[in-house]
Amino acid sequence: MSSKRQIHVGPVPIGGGAPVAVQTMTKTETANLAATMEQIRTVAEAGADIVRVAVPREQDVEALRTIVAESPIPIIADIHFNHTLALKAIEAGAHCVRLNPGNIGGPEKVAEVIALAKLHGTPLRVGVNSGSLPKHLRELEYENPVEALVTAATETVELMERLDFENFKVSMKSTSVPNTIASNRLLAERIPYPLHLGVTEAGTKWSGSLKSAVGLGTLLADGIGDTIRISLSTFHAEEEVKVAWEILKALKLRQRGPDLIACPTCGRLQFDMDKVVVEVEQRLEAYEDPIEVSVLGCAVNGIGEARHADFGITGAKDMGMIYSKGEPLKKVPTEQLVEELFKEIDRYYAAGKTVQRDEGAAEEARRWLAENEDETAMTPERIAMLEAAAAENDEAADAVLESMLGEGPAAPAGVAGATNGNGGNGAVMDEAVSPVAGRRFSRD
Ligand code: SF4
Repeated sequence: MSSKRQIHVGPVPIGGGAPVAVQTMTKTETANLAATMEQIRTVAEAGADIVRVAVPREQDVEALRTIVAESPIPIIADIHFNHTLALKAIEAGAHCVRLNPGNIGGPEKVAEVIALAKLHGTPLRVGVNSGSLPKHLRELEYENPVEALVTAATETVELMERLDFENFKVSMKSTSVPNTIASNRLLAERIPYPLHLGVTEAGTKWSGSLKSAVGLGTLLADGIGDTIRISLSTFHAEEEVKVAWEILKALKLRQRGPDLIACPTCGRLQFDMDKVVVEVEQRLEAYEDPIEVSVLGCAVNGIGEARHADFGITGAKDMGMIYSKGEPLKKVPTEQLVEELFKEIDRYYAAGKTVQRDEGAAEEARRWLAENEDETAMTPERIAMLEAAAAENDEAADAVLESMLGEGPAAPAGVAGATNGNGGNGAVMDEAVSPVAGRRFSRD
């Protein structure tokens, strides 16, 4: 349910089924051309589709013309209170102007900006903030903040329509995650225009990312939202872009760069995985292809749930293994795991995306895995697979149980290592840890 209408910010389509656009805002003084352009290039490289710059002073609007000309991505001019700056920003070639019609100086001044925007074909982002709703909505805001926010936004939309202007997107900003979700759900039902999503003043990189992931992720999962900005209290705007991409990638809405999957670790961990995961994540930033790379903390579980990964590593105290698509490639000393992983990834690309296998090395790795794998271990991964089978239906659960107890057919595909039984290689159902057992057997 993306918006029915589509606008274009420069060449970037927003709404109407277009991919959700990632945007951020520079943190530099806009008039400082060198610093602003450096940050724009950094965020563009990190994956920003659009970038907004603050234009609070004359010197900023003067810098805007150069910024628009030199920027690799479209520029939105962010303007408050001063309609003259909005007019100048449009004339400077800004690809979009963000303003709040409620604080720009009255209907005549709004009409003046709209007239020039029409002339130049410049889209606007119009919107409302929970902290600055019009006076006539204050009582409603007290009783029902969500309805007050949505009413303010729809009144703005009606003003645009009265001025015969449709080239805009709408935002409603609130610091409250539940209000952001509820108000955007309501607004999406009421208007056909593209929606800009964000949780305003979300906080630090840690808390702000989580709030944004919950708020924006919930809406995006419902198909609501056409462009997003993550607001974080950091000078490094590229961090906002990275978080935005992680949200979109997690929802499979867009793809960009590799996907790193890593086990949560547990008491079976046998090497310094924290360090390894950070290093792998950093080195993967140099790759653009959406390959999946997995890091497992031990070989007890075999390759387990990571068998679909394009490449992965699993380690033990001294030795580890590199695998691809569920097949061992080679065993290497633990301290060389990361280096050798990237050698294999680079060989794959050099060979036109073909995994390069050395059968001798693969056989050696297979033997190492067999020695280190423990099919009887009730690992978090196996517990998850058993839970999934149990949730599927009773028959699937029975099949898993029977196979574990060695009384019946093998466990369903995907339940790796669950094929042991009392009469087989010694696996015993542990009622204390098995959710399947807990569900299936009475403890009386
Ligand atoms: S059992 Fe699973 S979660 Fe624990 S260290 Fe091994 S792979 Fe990671």
